[in-house]
Amino acid sequence: MLDHLKANNRAWAERMVARDADFFRRLERQQAPEYLWIGCSDSRVPANEIVGLDPGELFVHRNVGNLAPPQDANYLSVLQFAVDVIKVKHVLVVGHYGCGGVGAAVDGKRRGLVDHWLHPIREVAHEHSPELDAISDLTARLNRLCELNVIRQVKNVVSDVFVQEAWARNQDLCVHGWVYSLTNGLVTDLNVTVSRPEEIPKASFAQPHS
Ligand code: ZN
Repeated sequence: MLDHLKANNRAWAERMVARDADFFRRLERQQAPEYLWIGCSDSRVPANEIVGLDPGELFVHRNVGNLAPPQDANYLSVLQFAVDVIKVKHVLVVGHYGCGGVGAAVDGKRRGLVDHWLHPIREVAHEHSPELDAISDLTARLNRLCELNVIRQVKNVVSDVFVQEAWARNQDLCVHGWVYSLTNGLVTDLNVTVSRPEEIPKASFAQPHS
């Protein structure tokens, strides 16, 4: 079963060792990634490949719609481990244009449990409805919602107590909001980076930019 995947795996492991004989032995001893990636589960948005990082270089949390909900124990556990134990220097919240989760949040169709999961995106859409309603093209409107969702999740991350405590003890930690394009494979920095608590009440969080 799945022999092609097992063959791929053997070939990959051989390539890694051919490039660096100690690669797996070194990783086995410890992981020390500098980055936490919070991204969408979408198969077209593979975290490590997009930013050219090897195993051991990126701590990854993915879910439908790249959400960072303050009541989600899974996300919170990843965040705390990344910040308190691994001491990552950067948290990257990475959304993507054409996100099915973002589209499903606002298309009015019933899908079951995932509707509950996507509720925070509906809240973002509701809060920004004047800006979004003014965009007549549906794709453009949903892509803007993808950006606004990333900005909201950055706000959630920087508001989190683990992040606040890290800053209080002068730990280096920057939180970034990016959006990835399926069309050309490029990420856009939404310029909502926060590296100190004083930077949180920036206009970009409070007001949608036009
Ligand atoms: Zn997505």
